[in-house]
Amino acid sequence: MALLEVENLSAGYGLFQALRGISLAAEEGETLAIVGANGAGKTTLLRTICGALPAMTGRVSFDGTSIENSSAHQLARLGISMVPEGRKLFPSLTVEDNLIIGSYPKRKGFWTVERVYALFPELVKRRNNRGLDLSGGEQQMVAIGRALMANPRLLLMDEISLGLAPIVVNQIYKSLPEISGHGTSIVLVEQDLNRALSVSNHVYCLLEGHVELSGLSAQMDRQALIDAYFGAN
Ligand code: ATP
Repeated sequence: MALLEVENLSAGYGLFQALRGISLAAEEGETLAIVGANGAGKTTLLRTICGALPAMTGRVSFDGTSIENSSAHQLARLGISMVPEGRKLFPSLTVEDNLIIGSYPKRKGFWTVERVYALFPELVKRRNNRGLDLSGGEQQMVAIGRALMANPRLLLMDEISLGLAPIVVNQIYKSLPEISGHGTSIVLVEQDLNRALSVSNHVYCLLEGHVELSGLSAQMDRQALIDAYFGAN
């Protein structure tokens, strides 16, 4: 049994069905990349997995427990953390306080404030700066660090490269193998196909709310993925 199993999941907004029968699975320590054009349903998928949006049909199971429609609190306790699109730091709190706020007393493990600083050394000199004084890249590092502080078994990441310079994105992407190397599974939404393929074990391409193409990232035919992305078939 995989750590995360999503079966035939549908969800949406009012009468609008944004996800139609999504199935996917992630093993412990594995990274899945979710790609797809604007509006394909990527964010909706993450929001449904993390309980922010109710499932209409289907099943999400985590370590064998059904979690669809669970509260954020229940999911945090099970070990699911989210790095939301737009980072959503507390702007008037310091870097260090933003990190500490992410910790969850019942989930102790590898990740501590000092280990987050070791992962992102540029945050050390910023530890007493407020969230709003940081660059976009630094904010993204804090958002990832804050999610790690709960020592998640599963980390959901929504477009962590959005609006950042390529050099900063490279720096942030370098942290992902280190995170998964400590046993955390990652489900990552990423618009850039090259980045998505380079960092993941499996890739899933969504099109209009369904999985148009999926497979092992190392074996994925790039042209087939581009065609699926644009719905060319
Ligand atoms: P993007 O890359 O633009 O973030 P996405 O693949 O993450 O796109 P979603 O944001 O999940 O796509 O949107 C899927 C569909 O659901 C789109 O048609 C979108 O317009 C619609 N949608 C998203 N959020 C809402 C909402 N709060 N209310 C109504 N419809 C929504």
